[in-house]
Amino acid sequence: MTAEPLTAPAHDLLSDYDSVLRRAYEHAVEYLRQQYAEDRLPVGPVGTDAQLRALLGGRLAAGGTPARDVVDELVRATAPGLVRSGRGRYFGYVTGGTLPAAMAADWLTSTWDQNTIVHDGSPATAVTEEVCEAWLVDLLGLDEHTSVAFTPSTTYAELLALTVARHSLLARHGWDVTARGLSGAPEINILINESVHPAVTRSLQVLGLSGQITALPSDDSGRMDVADVRAAVAARPGVPVLLCGHIGEINTGGVDRLRPLCDQIHAAGGWVHLDAAFGLWAAASPRLRAGLLDGVELADSIATDTHKWLNTPYDCGVAFIRDPDAHRQAFPLEASYLQLNPDERHPSALNIDISRRSRVFPLWAALRQLGRQGVADLVENTCARSRQLAEAMASEPGVTVLNQVHLNQVLLRFEHPGGDHDAHTERVAKRFQQDGSGWAATTSWKGTVALRFSMANWTTTADDIAETVRSLRSCHRQLRAGDPAAP
Ligand SMILES: *Cc1c(COP(=O)(O)O)cnc(C)c1O
Repeated sequence: MTAEPLTAPAHDLLSDYDSVLRRAYEHAVEYLRQQYAEDRLPVGPVGTDAQLRALLGGRLAAGGTPARDVVDELVRATAPGLVRSGRGRYFGYVTGGTLPAAMAADWLTSTWDQNTIVHDGSPATAVTEEVCEAWLVDLLGLDEHTSVAFTPSTTYAELLALTVARHSLLARHGWDVTARGLSGAPEINILINESVHPAVTRSLQVLGLSGQITALPSDDSGRMDVADVRAAVAARPGVPVLLCGHIGEINTGGVDRLRPLCDQIHAAGGWVHLDAAFGLWAAASPRLRAGLLDGVELADSIATDTHKWLNTPYDCGVAFIRDPDAHRQAFPLEASYLQLNPDERHPSALNIDISRRSRVFPLWAALRQLGRQGVADLVENTCARSRQLAEAMASEPGVTVLNQVHLNQVLLRFEHPGGDHDAHTERVAKRFQQDGSGWAATTSWKGTVALRFSMANWTTTADDIAETVRSLRSCHRQLRAGDPAAP
């Protein structure tokens, strides 16, 4: 059978959508039931790529398939390879869960299928972007004039922010990079924290700036030394400076010393960009903001996302640009077919992409569901769970917590009497993953292998951490005792 032709009567069309969406809803609720109610279901994938290829692949058939069957097939075929990353004991990468209101809003976003190109493409999207911009700037305590763009991810937010930084810095030195390109442009003294996420270096590469980067050393928490920055600026007087630091180093959760760094760079007429993929949300907690994020409002640009710590579904990133004029100047938008009333918000005049998903609806829903206090509580709770894990594991013989737990990242090192601690840590990680009660992956921090935990899920409880500790201890003890068998 093939899909109904587009000329189908309205009632047939409606019943097609009704039937397929109800089917999708049933599958979704069953997935969530398993995720949250079936405690022994492994968190990691249960099948192999070969199984997935057999189920998903083969030649694309000449004929179509009824929509409802497609949905059933998709669910069956992906099952062996889905990672239950919404579960409270999934600690891999930095991956949040999804708040119910945000998930529902995401479904509606697909239903509405708005084109976010300019105001008239979707007034609802344009105004929701305006509202989310104001809410976020207020919630995070940024400069009130800050201009915001919504992107697919933190990486795209870095690219967008650094495009603005490049334009603005070179314009101050008499060069319009948007009109003239980079050939013959003044050099930029780009100083980056050596531990900064590759999202930053990749964006600089894309912008043709990788040859101008100097990496500055970072300490055990991943923070630059203010004196190093001062010396690197002084070494090249008169050269435009771009400093890239971070809030929430990917391994340790460490935060650069924002106020002195911003003061320093601004005194030299430079631009400070911060990668804050997850860490920026700590600004919603008055305690963390005062202790770690003092001066965040001084940064010229910040890249973050909502799909990690704020618990919206993938994907949504956010770029904050403190100077709204600089933001607009970097993305001149003229096209014969675009009507750009200057009193309205035109999303593609603030972005690299033109057409895109209205990803602000799930964000709006998440912020509404949580409220200001809810965001602060989410951040505080996940930080408390991180401390719980670190404290419980620190009392286990042969386990070292490698980082000071500033935020929501914990690095565990497992030691073996034989002395090969890296290999032992890798084995503990494998066994922990196979045990299925939780999921985390190893990293290399300053040359040392560690098991890295990232707490970003709104559903993670103290019991989840207790269960994780039980499993980790058992994996570590069995492997130390030389038992190669299953956990
Ligand atoms: C995840 C992450 C990024 C990249 O974010 P995406 O949304 O995956 O592009 C950058 N920096 C840090 C610290 C991260 O945790």
